[in-house]
Amino acid sequence: KKRIVSGVQPTGSIHLGNYLGAIKNWISLQNAYDTLFFIVDLHAITLPYETQQLSKATKDTAAIYLACGVDASKASVFVQSHVRAHVELMWLLSSATPIGWLNKMIQFKEKSRKAGDENVAVALLTYPVLMASDILLYQSDFVPVGEDQQQHLELTRELAKRVNYLYGGRKWKKLGGRGGAIFKVPEALIPPAGARVMSLTDGLSKMSKSAPSDQSRINLLDSKDEIANKIKRCKTDAFTGLEFDNPERPECNNLLSIYQLMSGKTKEEVAQECQNMNWGTFKVLLTDSLIDHLHPIQVRYNEIMSESAYLDRVLAEGATKAADIADATLNNVYQAMGFSRR
Ligand code: ATP
Ligand code: MG
Repeated sequence: KKRIVSGVQPTGSIHLGNYLGAIKNWISLQNAYDTLFFIVDLHAITLPYETQQLSKATKDTAAIYLACGVDASKASVFVQSHVRAHVELMWLLSSATPIGWLNKMIQFKEKSRKAGDENVAVALLTYPVLMASDILLYQSDFVPVGEDQQQHLELTRELAKRVNYLYGGRKWKKLGGRGGAIFKVPEALIPPAGARVMSLTDGLSKMSKSAPSDQSRINLLDSKDEIANKIKRCKTDAFTGLEFDNPERPECNNLLSIYQLMSGKTKEEVAQECQNMNWGTFKVLLTDSLIDHLHPIQVRYNEIMSESAYLDRVLAEGATKAADIADATLNNVYQAMGFSRR
């Protein structure tokens, strides 16, 4: 079976972008692939954060995975920091990562600009190396992510090839390796729709957990009233009718796309249904589709949170399974890089 890994940071509330760009797509993949879905808590400390919140947010995120349909009997669900190999491999990988590669990362530039100099930690720069470690440890074939992670995935691929080149090959064979590469070179799986859900207050920036205004996103756990209010107040435009793909109407395209994915209709159906609509009518439709889609997820979330022993068990079992795979890769890397055996 081919393997798939993916994760979300426990940095705030999981929103529609995380759901449509990543989590929703995991559900259909878990039947056909060997899947590992984790909560990337080590990534969550790259910007200033509240220590009292981290562990709760980690559990919340795990519960949301399950509520969205991740099946713990098929997928391994675990917390990144519970598998020590992630940090260990990161150090090894960072010795093979040219600093110029990291300096070019758009997410680093954007997040460091917003954070202000005092808050830009080295870890924010080396974030993509930890992400590469998350993926390469499991010899992953595919990584389902939103479009914003494409550049990081590309770096992961380059890094895998570089390590294979520097430490793999002939040297690797002589050491008794399987004669192949040290790392599999993974591919991004970017969904055809929903890969870039935009902010409700600005159709040109992506919906983000770390955006200061909660008004800019629909969180999966928002109440009916919150959803209705956010849609009521979201940014629209003064054109007549509604349409997809007009570059002058980024908000319109975004809201129609959200409606399409929430209602399960095709793009053509939505384009037709909404072409002569005004914003008032459409907003009611959109609000209802969001509430209908998110309500069952919220009900399941509450059930899972009320059985916290179950969640703990899922995470413990997930970490054990993950650590087996991760440790095998890590040991190979140590060996290939010439470290003495333990
Ligand atoms: P932060 O602002 O803290 O970086 P985030 O909202 O970007 O949070 P992440 O935890 O960094 O969320 O990303 C988790 C997953 O969600 C990734 O696969 C990412 O590509 C995807 N994702 C994040 N934002 C969006 C979005 N607006 N549209 C589609 N996918 C998204
Ligand atoms: Mg992000």
